[in-house]
Amino acid sequence: MQEFDVIMIGAGHNGLVCAGYLLKAGYSVLLLEKQSIPGGAATTEEALPEEAPGFYFNLCAIDHEFIHLGPVVAELELEKYGLEYLFCDPVTFCPQPDGNYFLAHRSVDKTCAEIARYSDRDAAKYKEFIGFWDTLTQGITPIFNAPPKSIVDILGNYGLHNLQDLLSLLGGVDREHVTLAMSNYA
Ligand SMILES: Cc1cc2nc3c(=O)[nH]c(=O)nc-3n(C[C@H](O)[C@H](O)[C@H](O)COP(=O)(O)OP(=O)(O)OC[C@H]3O[C@@H](n4cnc5c(N)ncnc54)[C@H](O)[C@@H]3O)c2cc1C
Repeated sequence: MQEFDVIMIGAGHNGLVCAGYLLKAGYSVLLLEKQSIPGGAATTEEALPEEAPGFYFNLCAIDHEFIHLGPVVAELELEKYGLEYLFCDPVTFCPQPDGNYFLAHRSVDKTCAEIARYSDRDAAKYKEFIGFWDTLTQGITPIFNAPPKSIVDILGNYGLHNLQDLLSLLGGVDREHVTLAMSNYA
């Protein structure tokens, strides 16, 4: 009988990443998955083979954002194994019954220009909202990239600019505006 250093149950993205790192560290791994396709809630599947043959859908996870904030793609050399991220632009198309439409772009300025076709105020608030999330993301990125051991380890991942970003979210003159913008778009 073949023996393994580690047996893992569930080939969702966390299982796959964990197995990848264990293999890289030289362990032998048996990863067991009950579905026919690995990936768990992050699969891309031909979900409607009769109605839409050849069209693939993300059944659950659709936004791959946080993976780009850490080293997983580079460290596991996923591109070498065929991973290619295709970034859509425009990112969102919302047709309306009257023939009008809304397009959101990767460029915040272009998206704001599109929002401004409907409301200048909303366009300005959207820019504030994105600014808030950019700062928040910079502030919490070190948490993603630290082993979940202790607060001291996590703090060790913080550089001055991350701390400044985090602290800037605690107060400041724009805080109420940002909170308002967030509630507008929640
Ligand atoms: C509707 C929805 C939308 C989401 N949207 C996003 C998004 O846009 N962006 C994002 O980053 N995240 C999103 N998520 C979250 C993301 O999908 C999960 O965080 C991620 O899939 C968790 O990965 P995991 O490996 O821990 O678990 P899972 O993906 O759940 O994988 C667990 C795996 O274990 C298998 N398994 C379970 N029990 C057994 C067993 N006894 N034997 C063998 N195999 C077993 C399952 O079949 C499955 O493949 C979404 C989640 C849902 C539900």
